[in-house]
Amino acid sequence: MRLLLMGPPGAGKGTQAQVIAGRLGVPHISTGDIFRANVSQATPLGIEAKRYMDAGEYVPDDVTNAMVRDRLADPDCQAGFLLDGYPRTLDQVAYLDSILDDVGTQLDLVAELTVDLDEVVQRLVRRAVEQGRSDDTEEVIRRRLEVYFAQTAPLIESFMSRGILVQVDGMGAIEDVTSRLVAVIASLS
Ligand code: AMP
Repeated sequence: MRLLLMGPPGAGKGTQAQVIAGRLGVPHISTGDIFRANVSQATPLGIEAKRYMDAGEYVPDDVTNAMVRDRLADPDCQAGFLLDGYPRTLDQVAYLDSILDDVGTQLDLVAELTVDLDEVVQRLVRRAVEQGRSDDTEEVIRRRLEVYFAQTAPLIESFMSRGILVQVDGMGAIEDVTSRLVAVIASLS
């Protein structure tokens, strides 16, 4: 099962992806988490990525694509994976397609979490207080949402035309959103 979870910053992708990946027994691949791990270890990748992350901008495609290519080559990804936060640009979609093409596979499902934007901003402000993320200031949150709508929202159209996109209501209790996602995934098999 090769899945992608999409949605604007604060939609709850990370939380849901962790639970769903655990239930399916596939790795949860979050590019944001991989970048943050590199930032905290001050690796060259982390030092480069931090500049963009702190400004609410996307890390350049070549850097992100190479990182995902390496991760998907790991043995635990052979039977499937749940991508969270990648691809985020049309170039990244083309790159992912080519990686999967090379091994004769493709994405099975893209689940888009739909949310109320005011609620999303409130969630992000709360997370800023709880987790102290350096990209959760109000100004950066606003920029991250702008970047999402300019660069990532167009992907939804593209996955829709492939017939693999399902929209899932991301509002309400975490468990309720999980149940909706589980139902959508179950209907695939
Ligand atoms: P996230 O935790 O998924 O919201 O990601 C945090 C930040 O990491 C983003 O705001 C970007 O700066 C960077 N990032 C994560 N995934 C990607 C991606 N697919 N392409 C470019 N930048 C990314």
